[in-house]
Amino acid sequence: MSAEPQIELVGINKHYGSFHALKNVDLTIPKGAFVALVGPSGCGKSTLLRSLAGLETISGGTMKIAGEQMNGVPPRKRDVAMVFQSYALYPHMTVEQNLTYSLRLKRVPKAEAARAAREVAETTGLTPLLARYPRELSGGQRQRVAMGRAIIRNPKAFLFDEPLSNLDAALRVHMRKEIRALHDRLGATSVYVTHDQIEAMTMADHVVVMRDGVIEQQGSPLELYDTPASKFVAGFIGSPAMNFVPGKVSADGQSVQPDLPGAGSVALGRSVGAGRSVLIGLRPEHLQVGGNGPAVLRLPVSAVESTGSMTYLTLGDDPEIMVVDTGRTSVKAGDTISVSIEPGNVHLFDPATEKAI
Ligand code: ATP
Repeated sequence: MSAEPQIELVGINKHYGSFHALKNVDLTIPKGAFVALVGPSGCGKSTLLRSLAGLETISGGTMKIAGEQMNGVPPRKRDVAMVFQSYALYPHMTVEQNLTYSLRLKRVPKAEAARAAREVAETTGLTPLLARYPRELSGGQRQRVAMGRAIIRNPKAFLFDEPLSNLDAALRVHMRKEIRALHDRLGATSVYVTHDQIEAMTMADHVVVMRDGVIEQQGSPLELYDTPASKFVAGFIGSPAMNFVPGKVSADGQSVQPDLPGAGSVALGRSVGAGRSVLIGLRPEHLQVGGNGPAVLRLPVSAVESTGSMTYLTLGDDPEIMVVDTGRTSVKAGDTISVSIEPGNVHLFDPATEKAI
């Protein structure tokens, strides 16, 4: 992320009446980056994207795109392209007319617009569909027209607002790759809003996790997965979600003991405040059934679900602990089993502040 900034947001605030939707958001996006804004419903990610597009008026802060101050600049003069989940295609226009609409508005000569449409159609795989109407297209093809319409404008940034939510699971996975490949081919700068952390993790170079109008943490997908700064990020990134168990650090500060019957202490491989109460974070995929290390938890199995390639075990009830095992297992509901974990995979959080320790 060392390229020059393409988007710079400093101290962005947005109020809807008395509701404070964005609270002093600072964010710098380098040229060529693919950045995902993620967070639960209502965290402000769409508001931030729409503010960038000029569709919302910010209450405070400064906003620059390609070095130019954007505060007060109307949407059509910002030179950014939004791609929505609803596609927003014109139903009475063919694919070609949809693609060239913005050029016609700019009075680009017909032949030039047609050439641009052919080029974009080639890039997006729409060449055989140029004469069709939106109703004659599949969901994935409509999404491609929406992308093509953005590409033809050669914008300074692409802004995506949950563009794949209307598609079925298989097509979503396919379109994720297609959008990322287009981004790379065009050398574009993209900001992508989604509530789907898997989409964010697989598509973006840089993920921004938002909560209640603030940026909770930002970093590469693996930074967020490996070193979440808070319980919130730890629970949001990763699927199934991280397990949290209350516990206590040993008197020598070198190990931690979960506060559950039958649990064993686990070495931390580092020194932490002796005797302090903590929240222990254990990712389902890091818990090993009958692993080599000492057992960290020993609990009854309440459910076994298998997808063929993976087995999901639910242990205990308060809290429920999820374990993901690759491959098959002979474990059955009602069995009591031990699970172990490598010391480097144990996460600790302060129970009061919920920040990582
Ligand atoms: P979602 O994933 O559900 O779209 P989001 O993170 O994109 O959520 P925003 O749409 O940015 O959330 O909304 C942030 C907060 O601002 C929400 O609490 C929402 O209710 C509020 N909000 C959004 N638009 C308005 C509005 N026009 N008037 C009042 N409140 C609004």
